[in-house]
Amino acid sequence: MAAGKGQGQWKLGYREPLNPNERSKRDNDGLLVKQRIIDIYQYTGFDGIDPGDLRGRFRWYGLYTQRAQGIPGGRTAILEPEELEDRFFMLRVRIDGGQLTSEQLAVIGEISTTYGRDVADITDRQNVQLHWIRVEDVPTIWEKLEAVGLDTTEACGDTPRVMLGCPLEGVAADHILDAGPALRATVEKYVGDPAFSNLPRKFKTSISGCTQHCTNHEINDVSFVGVLGPDGTPGFDLWVGGGLSTNPMFAKRLGVFVREDEVGDVWAGVCSIFRDYGYRRSRNHARIKFLMADWGPEKFRQVLEDEYLGHTLPDGPAPPASPSHRDHIGLIPQADGLTAVGATTKSGRTSGRALSEIAALAAEFGTAGGRVRTTAQQGLVVLDIPAAKAEDVADRLELLGLSARPSIFHRGTIACTGIEFCKLAIVETKARAETIRGELEKRLPDFDTPLTINVNGCPNSCARFQTADIGFKGIVQKVRQEDGSFTDAEAFQVHLGGQLGSEAAFGRKFRGLKVSATEAPDYAERVLRGFLEHRKDQESFAS
Ligand code: SF4
Repeated sequence: MAAGKGQGQWKLGYREPLNPNERSKRDNDGLLVKQRIIDIYQYTGFDGIDPGDLRGRFRWYGLYTQRAQGIPGGRTAILEPEELEDRFFMLRVRIDGGQLTSEQLAVIGEISTTYGRDVADITDRQNVQLHWIRVEDVPTIWEKLEAVGLDTTEACGDTPRVMLGCPLEGVAADHILDAGPALRATVEKYVGDPAFSNLPRKFKTSISGCTQHCTNHEINDVSFVGVLGPDGTPGFDLWVGGGLSTNPMFAKRLGVFVREDEVGDVWAGVCSIFRDYGYRRSRNHARIKFLMADWGPEKFRQVLEDEYLGHTLPDGPAPPASPSHRDHIGLIPQADGLTAVGATTKSGRTSGRALSEIAALAAEFGTAGGRVRTTAQQGLVVLDIPAAKAEDVADRLELLGLSARPSIFHRGTIACTGIEFCKLAIVETKARAETIRGELEKRLPDFDTPLTINVNGCPNSCARFQTADIGFKGIVQKVRQEDGSFTDAEAFQVHLGGQLGSEAAFGRKFRGLKVSATEAPDYAERVLRGFLEHRKDQESFAS
């Protein structure tokens, strides 16, 4: 779709809302819903919530209605919203940079146990998602979160969502720079600012000094990537316009060097371009990647410099190449001689009780009172452990269902929320991912090549199927019954060979490469056995 007239770009004078979402945002800012939850909805309960708030503005505070239990995926499109949702909410706690104190993690764990049936999911954007939350409990939950410096502001909605950062920021022995201060300053200045609470769509940020590029700058809307500048000063390379979903695109380098103290201003400039020039007619066409696709990085840079910063930015270098498989798992030496213990979850799923115990573990063994970080691979890192205690911490994590010594398959498997709670889902994901992982561990115990297996419940790609070695995308398949009739069954479209890094490429979708959900482990085994048979030397799966 071409840019220009009729795409609802504010800066071109098109302020009239072109769809119901835009109208809702114009009529009442999403940030205003918090007070209504406190003043009204906690007392009226679910039935008293205005539909525009319930399915729209609640997102500005991380609240989505939860999928009703037992609704199969194939029926999603034909059900009314009220048939598809139950009376509980998913609540997303934003954890910018994945940075948590043990006290904060303990509070999240306690909230999950008390108000959320003890379910807690670590997302691949470093948030924690709670489920089974009642609107009556939301103000109390906010009070508990805010008492320890956490919140859910703009955790969802057409807003600047959580900003990703490397979990080892500030302690890593090999980082280009500590991006934590720039990230925190940007969050503090702009999250919750009404100037950015009505964007055309969601806006995802990464600010990181990690040499592994573990926050996946290639697929964020805006990324600041640690580099050494022209004179050797650390700063950032700026990338804009990445995103997956149904039209995956890699971010483009603008070719500029951003000093640490300029990050906030440049972030605000890029976000303002999105707000002012972003396409608002169709939500499927509203992410900043579509604007970048039409403008190209040269024009984007020029508009940023001329209209928003008022000065030019110097040219800067590209970041060095990084691996496609990125995480921080195992016992990792910190720059200060202490050890970080990084562990996987089971496809993101954990519990409030486990989070509380990890908080206690971090407080007991960590030298700085306990610091924990979430990762973009649905894992956790416990910081500041004396080297002599690191194995003990790893053992204790193992007992809580997190592994600092995972198999290749455990290390590389992630899954989105899926049909258990997500209204858009077509298939179940977390349990299926765990089945695939467990079967591969049994069938291929000696498999030794780093691998990512990303299981998604629908084409929205919250678990990044296009960038996985083996990406599973949930679909519905018609299956013939004995009597000749057809029924819907959960299945996956398979994408193979996706990767990030210097050889970045989206996984290939082979025509007809669909497997029923129950056959997924067999399929993955066949693919991997074929790879083992034909690979040359240390060839990676994607190549
Ligand atoms: Fe829901 Fe689809 Fe995202 Fe999975 S990929 S969490 S099913 S929207």
